[in-house]
Formats: sequence, structure tokens, C-alpha cells
Amino acid sequence: MKKGFPVLMLAWMVSITADAGAQDIESNDLNLQIRIRVYNFAKVTPDVIAKGEEEAGFVLEKVGIRTRWLECSGPAVGLECQSELGQRDFLVRILSGWAPVGTGIPRSAVGLALLAEDGGTMASVYIGRVTEIAATGLAWRAQVLGHGIAHEIGHLLMGSNGHAALGIMRAEWKRADLQSISRRSLNFTSKQRKLLREAVHRRETAEK
Ligand SMILES: [Zn+2]
Repeated sequence: MKKGFPVLMLAWMVSITADAGAQDIESNDLNLQIRIRVYNFAKVTPDVIAKGEEEAGFVLEKVGIRTRWLECSGPAVGLECQSELGQRDFLVRILSGWAPVGTGIPRSAVGLALLAEDGGTMASVYIGRVTEIAATGLAWRAQVLGHGIAHEIGHLLMGSNGHAALGIMRAEWKRADLQSISRRSLNFTSKQRKLLREAVHRRETAEK
């Protein structure tokens, strides 16, 4: 939920939109999948993590992207967590507290996506902020966590820390957004859905 740079974001959107017309990918055309390695450094109870993953998976499923989750912290870490990262592998760190002060990330940020030139692989979600949002009583903690994860994966796939005026990619969720989260109806926009599918398809092709 890092504050974006509107002017740069606009330029980026225009170039992507122009490029995307050539290869429109409908959600049902492809069997898109990503894998997410979860590092629960904040030691959140496993049931909240599992429900959070389910929520994030539900949001991404509506985009046409299936998710596979790997628990990569704790005593029983599978071998898959140690295998080499592919293009469709992502790392999500669940950290305690809030976004660190002095990094330029607002305190209101649920998480942070580390972007590279070709998108990104790793994101963090701050459980202190998740819990604070859930304390409004408008959505459950696991729901906020899950939508936070989906939001950060959105940044990684779209290769931008920019935000939108509406939907799950808003810089800060308002009351109505949290109510939508509780009803599982806060979504990516149709333009974002297209960008996300294209990104996964591109990464899948690069893996082959
Ligand atoms: Zn964001």
C-alpha cells in the first residue's frame, strides 16, 4: 500500500494498455497459476494464515489465477520451499508491527512489494496494521490479511507500486472497502485483471 507516483503511473498505464491490445487474454483461455511461499515471521496462528491464504486465493481466482501456497517457516518446512525460484514463485513475509519508520512507507500501509525491473518476487505484509484495520470490526483479521496479500501480489505482477482510485488496489481502504472485503467483493478492476493475467502468462512463457 505504498503511496505511488501518479504521473509515472499514468505513463506506465498508457504504455501497457497500448501494448496489451495485441494479446488479450481472457480468464478462461488459460490455466494460469502462481505459487506463493509464505514466511510467517510474525508467528500469527496457523488458522489465521490459512484463512488469509484462502481469502487471497479467492480474490486471485476471480482474476483467473489459481494459487498454490507453501508454508515456508516453522518446524515442518517442505523441500519445495528450498527449491530454486521460478518465474511464477512469490515470497510473502508476514511481519509483526507496522511498516518501518523512515523508509517513506506510510504507517497506513498494509504491506510493501519489492519491485525489480521485470516486476517483483517478494512482498511483506505488516500484521500490526492488519490487526489495527480489523479492530474497526468491519472485516475479520484473516480477511484483511488475505486482501493485503492479494494487493501486494498485484503490485508484484503489475510491476508497479501505483494505486487505483477504486478496488483492492486503493492506497488505503475506506469503510466501504472494508465492508466489501467482509463480503468478499473487493476486487481488481477489469483493466487490472487483464494486466495480471498477462503478467502470469508472460512469466509462465519465460519459464519454458
Ligand atoms: Zn499498495
